[in-house]
Amino acid sequence: MNFTTRAIHDGQEPDPGTGAVNVPVYLTSTYAQESVGVVKFADYGRGDNPTRAALEAVLASLEHGRYSIAFSSGLSATDAVLRTLKPGDHVMMSTDAYGGTYRMLTKIFGAWGIHTDIIDLSDLDAVETGWHAETKLLWAETPSNPFLRVVDIAALAEIAHRHAAKLVIDNTFATPYLQTPLLLGADVVVHSTTKYLGGHSDVIGGAVITNDDELAERVKFFQFAVGAIPGPLDCYLVMRGVRTLGVRMDRHQANAARVVELLSAHDEIATVWYPGLETHPNHKIAQVQMSGYGGMVSVEVKRGAQRAKEIVEKTRLFTLAESLGGVESLIELPAAMTHLSTSGSLLEIPDNLIRLSVGIEDIDDLLDDLRQALA
Ligand SMILES: *Cc1c(COP(=O)(O)O)cnc(C)c1O
Repeated sequence: MNFTTRAIHDGQEPDPGTGAVNVPVYLTSTYAQESVGVVKFADYGRGDNPTRAALEAVLASLEHGRYSIAFSSGLSATDAVLRTLKPGDHVMMSTDAYGGTYRMLTKIFGAWGIHTDIIDLSDLDAVETGWHAETKLLWAETPSNPFLRVVDIAALAEIAHRHAAKLVIDNTFATPYLQTPLLLGADVVVHSTTKYLGGHSDVIGGAVITNDDELAERVKFFQFAVGAIPGPLDCYLVMRGVRTLGVRMDRHQANAARVVELLSAHDEIATVWYPGLETHPNHKIAQVQMSGYGGMVSVEVKRGAQRAKEIVEKTRLFTLAESLGGVESLIELPAAMTHLSTSGSLLEIPDNLIRLSVGIEDIDDLLDDLRQALA
């Protein structure tokens, strides 16, 4: 079956008991046992929940993974993968990444003896040069946040595997509709389902998808033993979002292409960052490994930080807010908002950079809004 069919059907058969076409929201913390230790589905809600299992099944299908483990946030999914490391291990992370991932690696895992280097993972020579005997994990976001840089997943997987290390791809920005890292050789995919998969800015969630038996077993154990599980209603909301992922992404990208066109020609704008632009430094590899360029656009404003602040405070349809991937358009200043925790680090973002999450509203209204804000 093809993507949009799997998104609507996999893990989501009509309920056998009642025929309900939607997966029920199983609000239960525990399960009746037939006799001591004999259970029908699970013994306790932290261990498993049917609504959660349905979400995990559809995400596994979309990412072409055998295992899918859902979490209460993208960061708890990230945490579970990083917990597979041990003191002394070394991680290479891309130069431009979600601030919270960087914060977790440096402020939490750093204190437990896991060392992280920030490396430009689009430069394969830099990856080889930066390699240590202790390097166990490459962590890449592609497209990245907020520069929309794209790394070569297949080439990084080859390097990682040659050194018996693993490649993790945070696929939040692309979604499996536009890019399937496991098919390109990555070992693990991580999602913040809060973004495009949920798609309506009404839920926080995360997931880990993999074909690696041993890693899956450990991550599944952390889900149970640490307990950062998503509630059943949250799982339902993410699953409902996933059903329309394909049509939403088509519209997000069509709208983003028009926004890119407007901003590229505007004299207030110095640079537009969008992987679909031929001028983008990683356009070629994006063309090869993605089936579309997504709905995120970043721009640098000519007249600097103050002017950038005025613009993001003047849009009306583009709401000034963190996060991304919902049906509504959002605008923000990463240096002062989402990426504040990277200030003073190698991941610091220029203060004249604006990030837009282009929603699925009518494009003429969106363009009018940007024109008036830039006027
Ligand atoms: C939002 C985000 C995260 C963190 O996810 P939460 O659901 O907010 O915990 C991780 N990676 C990327 C690329 C994100 O955009």
